[in-house]
Amino acid sequence: MSQVASQSGAASTTGSECTFLDSVYKMYDQALACLSLPHGLPEKLKQCHAVYQVRFPVEIQGKIEVFTGWRAVHSEHRLPSKGGIRFAPVVEQDEVEALAALMSFKCAIVDVPFGGSKGGLRINPQHYKDSELEQITRRFARELAQRGFISPAINVPAPDMGTGSREMAWIADTYQRMNPTDINALACVTGKPPTQGGIQGRVEATGRGVQYGLREFFRHEEDVRMAGLSGGLAGKRVIVQGLGNVGYHAATFLQHEDNCKIVGIVEWDGALYNHDGLSVETVAAYKYANGGIKGYPDAEYVEDGLSLLEAECDILMPAALEGQITRENAARIKAPLIAEAANGPVTFEADEILRSRGTVILPDLYLNAGGVTVSYFEWIKNLSHIRFGRMERRHEENRSQQMLSVIEQMTGQSVPPSLAREFISGADELDLVRSGLDDTMCKAYREIREVFWNREEVNDLRTAAFIVAIQKIARTYIEMGI
Ligand code: NAD
Repeated sequence: MSQVASQSGAASTTGSECTFLDSVYKMYDQALACLSLPHGLPEKLKQCHAVYQVRFPVEIQGKIEVFTGWRAVHSEHRLPSKGGIRFAPVVEQDEVEALAALMSFKCAIVDVPFGGSKGGLRINPQHYKDSELEQITRRFARELAQRGFISPAINVPAPDMGTGSREMAWIADTYQRMNPTDINALACVTGKPPTQGGIQGRVEATGRGVQYGLREFFRHEEDVRMAGLSGGLAGKRVIVQGLGNVGYHAATFLQHEDNCKIVGIVEWDGALYNHDGLSVETVAAYKYANGGIKGYPDAEYVEDGLSLLEAECDILMPAALEGQITRENAARIKAPLIAEAANGPVTFEADEILRSRGTVILPDLYLNAGGVTVSYFEWIKNLSHIRFGRMERRHEENRSQQMLSVIEQMTGQSVPPSLAREFISGADELDLVRSGLDDTMCKAYREIREVFWNREEVNDLRTAAFIVAIQKIARTYIEMGI
């Protein structure tokens, strides 16, 4: 066990391609070149403030297994620091640091008053029974909480790859048992099931945010034209990589609510293509039942899944892992618009190639910020100990009923019952979460495009997004005194 402050300014590189952390640093540097910050601040904003690595043993089926995990804190200009915990067979300190940095910038972009953090446990969750995973998760949570890396005021995890509401419930319960007198204990983690202090709409929040972000992009004709596209989202052909939490929800919403056509789905064991469109739910059900998508009947199967990222489509939506579009395949990507639902799917080198070809990228630090936005709502709900809408809903309905009666009296006509019901119905928690998320994604995009269209030296939305984020964080530090 060791607690180390990260010292390095640049991460190592593998071969000639940047590592994930290097990519984030280079993207940050690119934005920084357009700004003028006080001496010392750029370094402070760049690197993680602290990284905690832990190794802990758990007895699994009579044998001791040792697990390695990390929690990185990128910034504490606002507290708590916030970011998911991922469970994956390949997790490295560099990766956790890169993800923590992205979290700081993401929170700033969507005006969520948190610093950035991220955690990871090196484990293949599929190799363990539920009871074993619970034991491992609880032990990891204890290790982090004991050192202040989980707490409602200082550091609040959430789900990420390989974790979900179940793991968050175990973490919350572990923390509560360690801190029985902390009345705000439930706010120590977000993404919990609604019955365990969670909030309606959190499970699908990242995918929902991707949908709202895309909708906002398509509201701006000149932005759409810049990607060589026209019209709205309806009818757009989408290829999605990763049918997990983020990819599944984003693709389902785009298919059912925006009439997009999901023509390709890429998973770990290959890809499916159907020119006429795939049913996302049916493929997801097949994957759930069979562990993968290979053998799915109503589509062409492509063994080399990654190659489908290069197929013709309007929107390419990587929603699985980092480093999927690299200098090796970037020049072959045909999609004019890339929607980064995953964190870091495009490396720095690939980003340069794509930009030179005119591909428009909706960057991760904006597009997948829906999860942390709704996590913020959940955290507030936990601190206020009341669900959103509980106090106002009936009052709102009574007011609407009165207004309807006045309209009916004045016009001498009665409103059809179905319309009246819709008009009167007050907002419940899910309505409020959705409208708060929608508003957040729209406002954030407008801030980014404002920088993009008004600064000559900015040529892409990612740099614009970094500029928005860096300026907001820098302002906080300057006002506080660095
Ligand atoms: P998940 O574990 O629910 O889903 C990941 C999916 O990708 C799974 O279906 C998996 O089978 C698939 N996959 C794995 N390896 C693959 C490969 N080589 N090729 C294609 N598909 C592969 O994870 P998630 O929570 O949906 O996260 C996906 C991405 O979104 C990650 O980059 C994560 O950091 C990011 N993200 C997640 C959230 C969230 O709220 N869960 C929030 C923001 C960003």
